[in-house]
Amino acid sequence: MSPQKEKAHVAVVGAGLTGGLLACYLGRRGYRVDVYERRPDPRVTGAERGRSINLALSERGIDALRRIGLADEVLADALPMRGRMVHPLGGAPNFQPYSISGDRAINSIGRGALNNALLDAAAATPGVTIHFDHPLTELDPEAGTLGFADGSQAKADIILGADGAGSATRGLLLAYAGDAFDEEVSFLDYGYKELTIPARDGGFALDPGALHIWPRGTSMMIALPNPDGSFTGTLFWPNGGTGSFASLGSPAAVERHFRKNYPDLLELIPDLPGDFRHNPVGLLGTVRCGPWQMLGKVALIGDAAHAIVPFYGQGANAAFEDVVELDRCLEATGDDWPAALPLYEQNRRENSEAIAEMALANFVEMRDKVADPLFKLGKRVEHTLERLLPGVYVSRYELVSFSTTPYATVRRRVRRQHQALAAVAAAAGVAAAALIAKAVRR
Ligand SMILES: Cc1cc2nc3c(=O)[nH]c(=O)nc-3n(C[C@H](O)[C@H](O)[C@H](O)COP(=O)(O)OP(=O)(O)OC[C@H]3O[C@@H](n4cnc5c(N)ncnc54)[C@H](O)[C@@H]3O)c2cc1C
Repeated sequence: MSPQKEKAHVAVVGAGLTGGLLACYLGRRGYRVDVYERRPDPRVTGAERGRSINLALSERGIDALRRIGLADEVLADALPMRGRMVHPLGGAPNFQPYSISGDRAINSIGRGALNNALLDAAAATPGVTIHFDHPLTELDPEAGTLGFADGSQAKADIILGADGAGSATRGLLLAYAGDAFDEEVSFLDYGYKELTIPARDGGFALDPGALHIWPRGTSMMIALPNPDGSFTGTLFWPNGGTGSFASLGSPAAVERHFRKNYPDLLELIPDLPGDFRHNPVGLLGTVRCGPWQMLGKVALIGDAAHAIVPFYGQGANAAFEDVVELDRCLEATGDDWPAALPLYEQNRRENSEAIAEMALANFVEMRDKVADPLFKLGKRVEHTLERLLPGVYVSRYELVSFSTTPYATVRRRVRRQHQALAAVAAAAGVAAAALIAKAVRR
């Protein structure tokens, strides 16, 4: 253990998914860690409303939990989803497996349960203290001081902002650095609203082994199972115009819209107009900013650095990878923070840009393409290629969800695979044309 490692005192802002995991990792490295969280303790008060109730955890997130011995505990409550169940309008649902073997799964897990497991683990790690009801309102990066809404102050050698997409730490860094800090928040013209599909006769009303999608061209609904037999459905609808949340002003309009576009859901969600009216509409956006670190002592991590849209189910998974990477950089530099923080940014930036782009592209795939017969044929061809060329041709979904291959490498590899396929298809076309010409000339 280096002398600096024994001495450095770290403040983490935010005890969400990233902050909870980060505190566990840093505590295990021997740091004294103080975590400052805006909310009261969710283990006492229950989860905050208005956040997604469940989320899909895949290999990257599981790998981060496994490294600190938490994966089994967290996965004990998870429900594996082995593919998409697509509900077309007016047709029977069809299942599209995520992997060629059909047994690889992403895992539906309660956000609250995951957050609580991380908070329990962090609180049990020597050196870690969590301070709830501490919203950060002031930051002096040079002095290393933090100020909170109640007027109290704290000081630390290192300050890590893990305070989510609307990060106060990021806002305070912008105010401190001015033109030396860039921030771009691109909101999608879509929002989301959650609905509950309750358990039916003590069991699941839909197959709990799948992620359900109702693709409707320009919008969609998805549903993930919960351990209590219910499903949490999420509508992703435009913010304005026809078919937007705002356009359905009365219970009768809501019912009419669902009868026309999602008729099976009317039966599955008994209090649809009530749910629709009471549940808030959430924003969806991509955060790009930089630099992620300043002075070798203040840095952003997780959604605070790079929030993405949720269509690849990777935001939390990517945030957990950040934590593993920061730990790796501390190891590689002998816990020399001024060297580790720029290295962490260098190693993660390209990857977070790649998953941000893939997540946006996956929205079009989910809401529109999954119902298209050509898309389904393409998926079958892809799975055949994976079977014929194991380890040579691997689908993007497989690489993103079932491996820890860096996102940027995934993007490059998939581009090369597509170029090779296009070249093979073109060569086959030329050969076929030559054969036809020869036959015609004969
Ligand atoms: C609808 C939806 C579905 C999603 N589905 C998935 C999915 O299936 N799979 C997946 O991997 N990801 C998913 N995500 C993304 C995932 O939720 C985020 O990537 C993840 O929550 C990021 O964790 P975080 O800790 O960085 O931020 P957050 O979870 O936002 O946590 C930030 C924490 O900081 C605290 N905080 C905020 N401001 C302050 C302040 N001023 N002072 C102190 N504390 C503060 C907050 O109270 C909170 O506890 C989804 C997101 C949405 C919106």
